[in-house]
Amino acid sequence: MYTSKGGSVFHRSASCEALLEGQRKAARFGQQIHEPRPVPLRQAQAEGRGACIPCFPNFVPANAKPCWIRGESTWLPGLLLEWHKDPARKVWRGVVTYSVGSEQITEVREQKELRPRR
Ligand SMILES: [Zn+2]
Repeated sequence: MYTSKGGSVFHRSASCEALLEGQRKAARFGQQIHEPRPVPLRQAQAEGRGACIPCFPNFVPANAKPCWIRGESTWLPGLLLEWHKDPARKVWRGVVTYSVGSEQITEVREQKELRPRR
């Protein structure tokens, strides 16, 4: 497994798209880029990390739907947890969870920032 410094998830591959997106993001903000570090699964779990969504596509919790989420430079695979309708603006918003770098991010996104994923 691979982890990067800080972060809350572990990856199966060092070339994971979520991991690379995190590094691009860090570079853009002038932050130091840390090379992914290979670690045994047991250690990653002992550090309290969860599985990266794109690296572990078979891990889909009940009621969650696979989706694409617009990232800064690419569409990222993630999971749609629930939909909410915004009554004032008559738009749908989704609560989604996805991985960027070694962070697991759960946030609300607008419908236009989401696509179904098969
Ligand atoms: Zn990954």
